[in-house]
Amino acid sequence: MKSVEQTSSRVELAHLLSQCGNAVAFTGAGISTECGVPDFRSPGSAWRRNKPIPFADFLASEDMRLEAWRRKFAMDDIYAGAKPGRGHAALQRLVASGIMSAVITQNIDGLHQQSGIPDAQIIELHGNGTYAHCLQCGTRHELAEVRAEMESRCAPPLCGCGGIVKSATISFGQAMPREAMQRAKGATLACDLFIAIGSSLLVQPAASFPLLAKQNGAALVIVNGEATPLDDQADLVLNGDIGDLLDTLGRDGGRFSSATSDGRPQDTEKTSL
Ligand code: NAD
Repeated sequence: MKSVEQTSSRVELAHLLSQCGNAVAFTGAGISTECGVPDFRSPGSAWRRNKPIPFADFLASEDMRLEAWRRKFAMDDIYAGAKPGRGHAALQRLVASGIMSAVITQNIDGLHQQSGIPDAQIIELHGNGTYAHCLQCGTRHELAEVRAEMESRCAPPLCGCGGIVKSATISFGQAMPREAMQRAKGATLACDLFIAIGSSLLVQPAASFPLLAKQNGAALVIVNGEATPLDDQADLVLNGDIGDLLDTLGRDGGRFSSATSDGRPQDTEKTSL
């Protein structure tokens, strides 16, 4: 584990990116806090005002479904109009330049898509909260329509097929999406640089991917505002604000800029792609 002063660690991250053959990012709620989306674990988080509704309870009770939707729309109102931040933009540049093949995310806010990363290169482990779907037939439902229907009927929404409509996220007690898990495993095993960004690395099984990457021989970098349980396993730990730390990454086409200790930009030629 190497935890060095911020400026030199940014240079070191830029260097690792310049040398790698295939980088993969793994993101958590911390990458979106500067966009106005609260994270889960920070003190006072709006996500933890209420005890979560387990998936089985959602299925079993119309009252629970109504309550889940009320909470969902209350949270949406908190971060309506959120736009991608500096961390999202940095990852978009790395993907666009071909250095980063995939972004595995625990986030449900859709901000990686908004930043311009193609859907095919985003792997959502916990689903997506920007739309809903029918649990029976899979039909996609837009939230504005769901909300209008719910508010007019004072009842949880149903699909035309009669199935239960749910936000397209993974609830406590709900099975992980099999295809996303398989894709995440494949991306993790194929990379030689794995960068975990803005995650407490406490939510399983998602948090198993950084360790899998490391055990498979990839270099592991952790970028977060506080310590994580995997810091000791990491080749490089960057502690600080994600936007500040990643802002310069991937600018200037295929070259990587970072800042030297005296504040001058330092470019590192990308050599391996
Ligand atoms: P978490 O809340 O457990 O951890 C977030 C980490 O990011 C914390 O360690 C925090 O200190 C750090 N952080 C926050 N803002 C930061 C910043 N600006 N710079 C540096 N570090 C910062 O989040 P998690 O590990 O992703 O797990 C939370 C779970 O809740 C996930 O499963 C996710 O699905 C869900 N969630 C998603 C969102 C979202 O989509 N944006 C938001 C909240 C919760």
